[in-house]
Amino acid sequence: MRPQILFPLFAEVTSLKGVGAKVEPLIRKLAGPLVRDVLFLAPSGVITRRRANAADAVEGEIGIFDVIVDRMIAPGRPGVPLKVRASDETGFVHLIWFGGSPQHIDRQLPRGERRLVSGKVERFNGEVQIVHPDWIVALDKGEEIPAVEPVYPATAGLTSRVVRKLALGALAVAPELDEWQDAAWMARQKWPGWHEAIEALHAPQGEADLSPDAAPRQRLAYDELFAHQLALARRKRARQITPAPIIAPGDVSEALLTALPFTLTGAQAQALAEIRRDLASGEQMGRLLQGDVGSGKTAVAALALADAASAGFQSALMAPTEILARQHYQRLAPMLEAAGAPTILLTGRDTPAERRDRLAALASGQAKVAIGTHALFQDAVQFDKLALAVIDEQHRFGVNERARLQAKGDPRVGGVHLLTMSATPIPRTLELTQYGELEVSRLMEKPPGRTPISTAVLPLARIGEVAQRLKAAVESGAQAYWICPLVAESEAIDLAAAEERARDLRRLLGVEVGLAHGQMPGAEREAVMADFADGRISVLVATTVVEVGVDVPNATIMVIEHADRFGLAQLHQLRGRVGRGAKSSACILLYGGQDGGLGETARERLETLRRSEDGFEIAEEDFRLRGGGDPLGLKQSGFPAYRFADPIRHRSLLLAAADDARIMLGRDPDLTSPRGEAIRVLEALFDWKTDRGGLD
Ligand code: ADP
Ligand code: MG
Repeated sequence: MRPQILFPLFAEVTSLKGVGAKVEPLIRKLAGPLVRDVLFLAPSGVITRRRANAADAVEGEIGIFDVIVDRMIAPGRPGVPLKVRASDETGFVHLIWFGGSPQHIDRQLPRGERRLVSGKVERFNGEVQIVHPDWIVALDKGEEIPAVEPVYPATAGLTSRVVRKLALGALAVAPELDEWQDAAWMARQKWPGWHEAIEALHAPQGEADLSPDAAPRQRLAYDELFAHQLALARRKRARQITPAPIIAPGDVSEALLTALPFTLTGAQAQALAEIRRDLASGEQMGRLLQGDVGSGKTAVAALALADAASAGFQSALMAPTEILARQHYQRLAPMLEAAGAPTILLTGRDTPAERRDRLAALASGQAKVAIGTHALFQDAVQFDKLALAVIDEQHRFGVNERARLQAKGDPRVGGVHLLTMSATPIPRTLELTQYGELEVSRLMEKPPGRTPISTAVLPLARIGEVAQRLKAAVESGAQAYWICPLVAESEAIDLAAAEERARDLRRLLGVEVGLAHGQMPGAEREAVMADFADGRISVLVATTVVEVGVDVPNATIMVIEHADRFGLAQLHQLRGRVGRGAKSSACILLYGGQDGGLGETARERLETLRRSEDGFEIAEEDFRLRGGGDPLGLKQSGFPAYRFADPIRHRSLLLAAADDARIMLGRDPDLTSPRGEAIRVLEALFDWKTDRGGLD
């Protein structure tokens, strides 16, 4: 329940003075639906004005000039600006408007009168000019021109000044709140209290106050991160107190381990041990298996499936696409079945008869393992004793989809253990924001027997050479991916470019060239991919990202056109499609357009890939080079949208907030202490549960 003290902040924006029918939709779009959202809208800039004169005014500064109006030169024809010449004791100040109303301007600046005029100083032929002055007042109204004026994000129809009025309106109803931060920590950080911080947020005195490192902004960022980490820690606790079946390895696990054509790497063995500890704990597991492409996550997952079967339970392995699900099934089912775990495949393309039989086998408990796509969590699917859900490429699923699969458990059996797998190499700190409620196992070591991928960075102008080398390779039996990314504004143009590329290559190579793109019906695309996976096609041209996770060991060449348009992490994942077998592999990154130009940063970025095959190193480097932002596309993958916090800039705060949340809930799980009570207000203030982000 929301604490009463927060009611004014959770009122609709319409409760603010100045929000009528016209402003309401604009401010909602800009800030959000609530007064709180307007309160949290931080200024994005600040204007500082200084008294200036025509002789010494510095270009680029905002000056306040004390002038006598000389004359107005109205535009003779359209497109010519309106000018007013004025002067102070030291020289001329020209005021300029594009499209201003002469009557209105004349009224503000009557000839011969003295006025204070403010605006950004430009110099032209040694004289000052101001385009669109931001203030014009009579001499005795000088105090109306603020020396310091915060600038807010604005939008068409809603100026920064109106937004500021609304923000001040929100500030006026912001209550004083009891301190929720630890007293010793606050003292060490020398941060202001919450109300003081939010006041300071709206009263920057200069650029320094806009920095994420300014004390009030740090404080607010910490509040936000802390509230989010609390929400994640609470969910983690809720999971941990959910009883779940105790699973220990047994016959099926043993048999599968023997049947695997390799021995586990140290990293795989370690991850498996961590999973087994969870499965045997009696608490519900929530674990992320994080490992670069090709690191061998599937084998680890398969052993967990076998463990569940050994203990007499059912398990499910869900993949985001039909082709991935099929690939998992084709590889794992024979081994699992031989080991004593009957396994079924469920996808959207099963015939009604197949589907009926498979559903019956699941419901009766005869089938122990279900591998499939989204088809797995449909209502008609019923398990007898589901105990473990494994989600491959977890970012491809929504929170609800994972939850729907987990909900297929039986309360009498207990909570369904969850193992999610991801190959998105996000830096460790960021992991906290996205997966703070999960335990993490990492596969840092690649399976043996891989030859490194040699990566070349070449200008697009050398595409002819690349094609010739590809021809030689294909003639000796190699398979290749050729990626044409989205470049043009319109998908149709991109598609045409990819089709043309496929035609060119077909002509040049004299072999079958497949084309997979985003606008194809799913089934058709998967059929092409399957042809490639089975070696019926030598070259696959693709516009969209090649299915992450598909394993085609014979594919040894990856050509990426316009590589400079991709994020590094994405390029790394694409490159990970090759180098999966014993044969040596090559990745060719073609950059630049017709002119072949490439900025220094872009080149440096691609060079990173040439140097490194370590996804984590690459992700860190990508962050460094791009200076934050969202290089990995995290926002699309359930990454929380913070208002104050920048998880990269505020990295150390994030770590502290995660510790703080864990320790606090450990000490006072129901938040009944005085600090706990204050923290509950903080939680309500940010409202992570219903708001945004995070993994449920
Ligand atoms: P990912 O982590 O990207 O899902 P996969 O599980 O598809 O990787 O494994 C990639 C390849 O490595 C597969 O061909 C798999 O058979 C092989 N592999 C996995 N573990 C080992 C191992 N311990 N030794 C040798 N090869 C392995
Ligand atoms: Mg995989």
